[in-house]
Amino acid sequence: MRAYNSGRILARKDVCRRIVDLYGTEWMVIHRARYHALLLDEATRLGVDIHPGCEVQDVEVRPDSTVVRLHDGRTFAGHVVIGADGLWSQMRRSAWQDHTEPSETGDLAYRGTFSADQLKDMRDEGVDELLEASDVQVWMGPGKHVVFYPLNGGTQYNLVLLRPDNLPPNTRTGVGSLDEMRQTFEGWDPRLTRMIAQLDTALKWKLCHCEELETWVKGSIALLGDACHPTLPYQAQGAAMAVEDGLVLGVLLGRLQQSPELTQDGTKQQALNQVLALYERLRKARTTINVQGALNMRDFFHLGDGEEQVWRDGIMREYNESGAWPEGCRWNWGDVGYERSLLGFDLVVDAGGQFDRWREGREA
Ligand SMILES: Cc1cc2nc3c(=O)[nH]c(=O)nc-3n(C[C@H](O)[C@H](O)[C@H](O)COP(=O)(O)OP(=O)(O)OC[C@H]3O[C@@H](n4cnc5c(N)ncnc54)[C@H](O)[C@@H]3O)c2cc1C
Repeated sequence: MRAYNSGRILARKDVCRRIVDLYGTEWMVIHRARYHALLLDEATRLGVDIHPGCEVQDVEVRPDSTVVRLHDGRTFAGHVVIGADGLWSQMRRSAWQDHTEPSETGDLAYRGTFSADQLKDMRDEGVDELLEASDVQVWMGPGKHVVFYPLNGGTQYNLVLLRPDNLPPNTRTGVGSLDEMRQTFEGWDPRLTRMIAQLDTALKWKLCHCEELETWVKGSIALLGDACHPTLPYQAQGAAMAVEDGLVLGVLLGRLQQSPELTQDGTKQQALNQVLALYERLRKARTTINVQGALNMRDFFHLGDGEEQVWRDGIMREYNESGAWPEGCRWNWGDVGYERSLLGFDLVVDAGGQFDRWREGREA
């Protein structure tokens, strides 16, 4: 969580260029630790003040600034405060006086990461086949699914195992038993069960989400990421959406910063608050579609045996054979229009254009 006071904005192009320089373009997934490191480097380079180890207690809007108070009593004041504090957002609780807890989705995840060498050392032809595919592999079954994909240019692999939640209510994570994890997928593809057998921890992660919030912005305070649109991870879009929120905020606040004529004569706070409202308008509808898409994906992955499951397996088979999704595919990622509208949309161009329209309206 950060308080921005006409702060500098992360330069997306620089970050992207560095990712490409470091890791090349032939892979799709970056480990979050590396991504965090890149963002941290970029923020440091831009001169952002970073204060680690701060636990925010509350936020208060005062006539001349918005003040964030930490548990240790320190305060930080800014013209704008962004609450990027995740699913259990204290900022949401404090600013909105919203004490509703996130709701349980009924699913939980186990996660495991392997080095490529660890998997090759298994000397298992079936597992080698999966490594050679260097693509996202998904196994689906009633109420459960598994996703396996390369990270960091294929030097690491991630295995995410999803199953019905059996953690006690109000628990966020828990150490599960290896036996239970293995038994959950007993009888599935033997290549998968042999990989699961290699895992030596079974951390369980309860998957929760929230009803769509009425608003993410309250005057000079805005929420971002899981704090305002937590999602099931079934489209792999949660962190992506948080980054997109940051990008749009960056474009809008950056453009305002470059337009001093809009913030003169005591109108700076009003302009900032209007830009935050514009941020919500640009992002909320898009993230709502994305969150709903993840729920649809859950239905698709977890179908019980029957007619729909036969239909699903049919379209997956058709794709495997022809390399093209059937016309009007009902699966989100098989629907080119859906994919294009979520992943092919140029947020930077759109946010810039919307900023210009807002400015014209203000000047009129
Ligand atoms: C199993 C699983 C797999 C996933 N896979 C993917 C994927 O492949 N792709 C993808 O895009 N997304 C994925 N996600 C989703 C992704 O992890 C989240 O959407 C993303 O981390 C949200 O980022 P955030 O910054 O909004 O919140 P968080 O990552 O939760 O960060 C919030 C930060 O705020 C801090 N914080 C909390 N309270 C306070 C406080 N009071 N004071 C100060 N700081 C505070 C926390 O310590 C934390 O550092 C996955 C999620 C799960 C559970």
